[in-house]
Amino acid sequence: MTQADMEVPVLDVPVDAPEHCPGTESELAGKVSACDGCPNQTTCASSGPKPPDPDIPIIKERMKGVKKKILVLSGKGGVGKSTFSSGLGWALSADEEVQTGLLDIDICGPSLPHLLGLTKETLHTSSSGWSPIYVTPNLSCISIGFLLPSTSSAIIWRGPKKNQLIKQFLKDVDWGDSLDYLVVDTPPGTSDEHLSVVQYLKEGGIDGAVLVTTPQEVSLQDVRKELDFCRKVGVKVLGVVENMSGFVCPSCNGKSDVFFPSTGGAKALAEEAGITFLGAIPLDPRIGKSCDFGVSFLEEYPNSPATKAYVEIVDKIRDALGPID
Ligand code: ADP
Repeated sequence: MTQADMEVPVLDVPVDAPEHCPGTESELAGKVSACDGCPNQTTCASSGPKPPDPDIPIIKERMKGVKKKILVLSGKGGVGKSTFSSGLGWALSADEEVQTGLLDIDICGPSLPHLLGLTKETLHTSSSGWSPIYVTPNLSCISIGFLLPSTSSAIIWRGPKKNQLIKQFLKDVDWGDSLDYLVVDTPPGTSDEHLSVVQYLKEGGIDGAVLVTTPQEVSLQDVRKELDFCRKVGVKVLGVVENMSGFVCPSCNGKSDVFFPSTGGAKALAEEAGITFLGAIPLDPRIGKSCDFGVSFLEEYPNSPATKAYVEIVDKIRDALGPID
């Protein structure tokens, strides 16, 4: 799929702007690391108050019924962030009284449709907006994956185009009268998608971010960048999850460190940074298998060490977010 295939207006950004330009309308214009070296940085940073974005009140109205909004972040790809987002969705929705939505803003690499067994689904609209795809009666999902002709269709979009689609997701998706949790699965790093979602949800507020990492220092280094991002944009960090934390043998339940935490892993980082260590999820090949079949690992293997870790982590996240009533 290319830009021409979707009717999405393009934001007014300078042609010579860096690829991760937050957009001239953004309050972050000229002020974020993506702006370093941009010929327009000084103009953007000094051009006074920006005119209010007319879509922000629309997003605020749409998000009124969403009680808790959670960002799932990781510095690197492949650390299990989307797997964790889907696990969080499955776990929160285990309570049938609780409505949970998953919003996939990984525009170039949407994986939630696959992880939730929804690859054959396409989006529909009604008079009240875009309808999310329901995995169960109380777990729903929105992803660009539902708009693509096939799972191998590539999205080749620059920042402003991605921002517009994220805005449209936030503005137009009809999550129903009330959604208890909205889990936003983001791409790795801190770029357009992250800036957009923070900017567009600023008025309604984001309740917090969960950072996902693997135990190695190379992944932890990027978590420190995520922390810096959260601090700069004013998003509360709910805590850090260490995924792929050792391998638990399914036969004997013995543990070995496949990815060695040479600098102490996420726990040491959490202590150093003064954030909550939410827990460690071991490597378990059945997680990948469940994801490939689009089923809930937590339901399939309720007694596994990984499920126990998930349950404890999700409890801590729920507690950190506070009551939903
Ligand atoms: P990311 O979103 O960070 O790019 P994914 O969630 O796509 O990463 O996960 C990458 C791969 O790792 C997937 O194949 C997934 O099934 C697998 N995976 C994630 N967490 C675990 C785990 N704890 N044990 C085994 N495999 C895992």
